[in-house]
Amino acid sequence: FTPLGVSRSSPSVQRAVAAALGEFFIIDELQAAVSERVARITGAEAATVTHCTAAAITLAIAATMTGDSETGIAQLPDTTGMPNRVIIPAGHVVNYGHSILTAIRLAGAVPVIAGTESACTVDDISHALVGEHTACLLLVSSRLTHGTPLDLGQAVAAAHAYGLPAIIDGAAQDLRLDELLATGADLVLISAQKYLAAPTAGLIVGRSNLVRACRAQERGIGRGMKATKESIAGVLAALEEREHLDIAAW
Ligand SMILES: *Cc1c(COP(=O)(O)O)cnc(C)c1O
Repeated sequence: FTPLGVSRSSPSVQRAVAAALGEFFIIDELQAAVSERVARITGAEAATVTHCTAAAITLAIAATMTGDSETGIAQLPDTTGMPNRVIIPAGHVVNYGHSILTAIRLAGAVPVIAGTESACTVDDISHALVGEHTACLLLVSSRLTHGTPLDLGQAVAAAHAYGLPAIIDGAAQDLRLDELLATGADLVLISAQKYLAAPTAGLIVGRSNLVRACRAQERGIGRGMKATKESIAGVLAALEEREHLDIAAW
């Protein structure tokens, strides 16, 4: 749990972090190493490390609004002229220390809440997606969500039917990463410091063009959300352990 400083890292993760502190790195090369390792483990196209999962949410939303556009990236959080509506089911408006709506608004986006707290159907999501200037659909996979569970795969398909990307915040569910990617989500966001037991960081996993657009936000609103060299090194070591973990046995 976050108030307890989340997980304890293994000795090999601790060694990787300590060793990284004494070295120079080209951060792009470290990020590329993480991307390759995540791709090998999950089959996803690409991945990048952020400061934490809350940062990953803000950056992922920014990426769906700006794409690779340098002028768009420099303009945020002013979204004039960009798609800026982010659809989120009412039961997915969770509070993990702040409201997820704050993470959406930080990018300059406008949250649009679909359905009610007790129920949000795929039809409710489709109705909300129709509006002009919609940037993406944001879903949450967590025991913090409320109401009748939503079929994430169907919700993702509804976004794709309108040609829009879908993001899943699965911060505490990295052990279910394959399942979350199998919904067809364009980006899945997980925490490095929760079950992965790495230093505090977030992982954005999914389509390479969107992952690249998330990284590019470091030239804009993402500057204060970037991962440190020691956290990326710790994530790499934790991913190596994860690669050899028998999840069913765990
Ligand atoms: C923990 C959590 C977050 C935030 O993660 P941080 O790494 O602390 O920013 C976001 N969403 C959900 C569902 C979480 O459980």
